[in-house]
Amino acid sequence: MGKYYNKNKDHVPPAGEEIFLLKMGEMVLKGLNRRGFEERLMGNARRRLQKYGKFRIYSRQSITYVEPQSLDCDLDGAFQSLSQLFGVVGLSRAKACEKTPEAIVETAKTYLYDDLMEARTFKVESKRSDKSFPLSSIQLSQYVGGELDDAFPHLTADMHTPDVVVHVEVREFAAYVHANPTPGAGGLPVGMGGKAVSLLSGGIDSPVASWMMAKRGVALEMVHFFSYPYTSPEAKEKVLELARLITPWCGRLTVHVVPFTEIQEELRRSCPEALFTLLMRRFMMRISERVAQRIGAHGLVTGESLGQVASQTMDAMAVTNQVCTLPVFRPVVGMDKEEIIRIARKIGTFETSILPYEDCCTVFTPRHPKTHPTLEEIQEAEAVLDIEGLVSKAVDGIERVVLEL
Ligand code: ATP
Ligand code: MG
Repeated sequence: MGKYYNKNKDHVPPAGEEIFLLKMGEMVLKGLNRRGFEERLMGNARRRLQKYGKFRIYSRQSITYVEPQSLDCDLDGAFQSLSQLFGVVGLSRAKACEKTPEAIVETAKTYLYDDLMEARTFKVESKRSDKSFPLSSIQLSQYVGGELDDAFPHLTADMHTPDVVVHVEVREFAAYVHANPTPGAGGLPVGMGGKAVSLLSGGIDSPVASWMMAKRGVALEMVHFFSYPYTSPEAKEKVLELARLITPWCGRLTVHVVPFTEIQEELRRSCPEALFTLLMRRFMMRISERVAQRIGAHGLVTGESLGQVASQTMDAMAVTNQVCTLPVFRPVVGMDKEEIIRIARKIGTFETSILPYEDCCTVFTPRHPKTHPTLEEIQEAEAVLDIEGLVSKAVDGIERVVLEL
């Protein structure tokens, strides 16, 4: 237990002398959403911190405080994990000290030494929630600023655009000192934006599309269509790996692996080759919608980008959309490949996405795919199929893989 803390039977003080402060996105904090936003963010933070030790998490004035409750908490692991938590725009580690102006200055000098040495200009901002503290916030900022100015002669005060802002907070149990926050993941807490089923292939685009939806607060479950033996177990492993790579953002993920071979063989046997891809995609949408109904999801997500390939023209999308009633979100629809790749690199999926395992679509790609299909010709081609039978059988054969955070 930190030696600075007052004893209070209602509040267990943090263990050790470092805590984390998470700054929440401000736009959404306005209005009635605020409480729901905070609760969701804290719940998500609690779940992901379980494996790093025991933490106390609570919110005050649009800051969420994360306080270790024992000395064996893995602080580096926890901090890294929180930097991938959607809904947080910035996060800092803060150092606790005794609630005296002298101790605060001493802590700022040592704890923020590197930041202060690197900066040329600085400013001190103080907050005082303990009203029994002898100095006002302004007096405290002036005192700390003056002392730091003396101790670091290269620094000059700048109230408008300082290189570093030294934050001082005098709170119930201790004073805290922190500086330059690390950028957070941004977005909204996962779960705030409802739940959707994301169609995850082994490519570059769908992991990025999934990440973008999760960033807007959508809880996801994944569907992957697997065409064994046309595609190898390695291809499936690759998709599971992609899903695993995005769990630090999405949280625990369930991947529904759908056996797709029979449908593809049936299409090859009974339908015009030029329509394969579109017919296949219509089956994917039907099956995904079925999965969505089962799990209570209200939307579908794909990694389609307008004009990228034959099946991603507007007409083709219209034809694939026509089999489902749920909204289909295509967050990368207006992005160039380069832009998508930039995000894929940032979130760490790119290297896995470009591994050379074949995808179920590439195996059955027609030589001359139809780019401007009409609904009539598609429906005519499907008329010979037992659509319901094929869909139900695929859904019944789903294998669920749960990937923990
Ligand atoms: P990606 O890079 O995401 O694979 P792509 O550019 O290769 O996309 P398509 O193969 O036409 O494009 O697939 C379009 C979208 O359809 C994918 O982004 C994905 O959402 C979905 N999809 C394609 N194949 C599969 C599959 N085997 N399992 C699940 N979803 C798939
Ligand atoms: Mg693909």
